[in-house]
Amino acid sequence: MKRLNLKGRQFNTFLILQEIEPHVEPSGRKRRRYLCLCKCGNKFKSLQTPLLSGSTKSCGCFRKKKLQSLATKHGLSKVYPKEYRAWCLMRHRHKGEISDAWLRFDVFMADMGVGQIKASLRRSNRKKMFSKDNCYWLQHSSTKG
Ligand SMILES: [Zn+2]
Repeated sequence: MKRLNLKGRQFNTFLILQEIEPHVEPSGRKRRRYLCLCKCGNKFKSLQTPLLSGSTKSCGCFRKKKLQSLATKHGLSKVYPKEYRAWCLMRHRHKGEISDAWLRFDVFMADMGVGQIKASLRRSNRKKMFSKDNCYWLQHSSTKG
């Protein structure tokens, strides 16, 4: 088997520092292992196989971060793009007039529910904050007049 020299090799999110003592499987088979430096600053150990196949992406922080941002930013906004637009618009136009809870899109969605196709977000009382009690979806009529 060809010996690969992976030391110093740079991947997208980490760098291979050095080869370390191999991982010994219960069967006695040895598998080559490397010490890597993640972009976030953490060092981690990885077997050669997942490193080369690309399944090792980072010390684990990458996956965690990605999952987190998917859930908070993109997950719901993809499922409810129209509501997300209304929410963004509200945040953009009415800074300082929004209840703290509604700075989170998931809370906003939980309070307001799904809007109709041509609905827009309205306040009952314009002098009051954007909040669950003061807002509703205004349904735009598709017929003229
Ligand atoms: Zn990391």
